[in-house]
Amino acid sequence: MRYDLAMKEKSTKEKLEPGSVQAHETYMKLAIEAAKRACHLGEVPIGAVLEYEGEIIGTGFNQPIRALDPSAHAEIGAIRQAARQIDNYRLTGATLYVTVEPCLMCLGAILQSRIGTLVYGASEPKFGAIESIYKFGSNRAVTKGLTIVKGVLEEPCRKILQDFFKYKRDVEEEA
Ligand SMILES: [Zn+2]
Repeated sequence: MRYDLAMKEKSTKEKLEPGSVQAHETYMKLAIEAAKRACHLGEVPIGAVLEYEGEIIGTGFNQPIRALDPSAHAEIGAIRQAARQIDNYRLTGATLYVTVEPCLMCLGAILQSRIGTLVYGASEPKFGAIESIYKFGSNRAVTKGLTIVKGVLEEPCRKILQDFFKYKRDVEEEA
């Protein structure tokens, strides 16, 4: 069983060309799985994973209500876990996959941690700091050194959010 799992992981790793569409979609699916964990806990479903040299070094999901912590965003969780995992406060060369466009706070953490590539799914009109309320994606003085890829699995990333808010509205209307 363990052997099979190891073989499976190995073959997945070998097939994924870093930076390819296939790699982006594979890791984004893991971020969507993390978002579902937030959803099950009644938190706004946003998930993130950090990939480094074909390995997942951090996973996070949005949980500010549960954690009584307004900074408990998916990206922050993944970054904290990854830094401990590799025993380094800098995550140079790592790629962060997050289902939704990061906010200003998370963009700050991404830049501070020296993450090399940010990949996200859906845009976030209210708090998004890359292309929405703030447009730091096109301000290279701020995002210098950060490669940004947007719109990966955009539809499923957006749909999980929409379904969550629709469910909340339906519950409130029934109450
Ligand atoms: Zn954030």
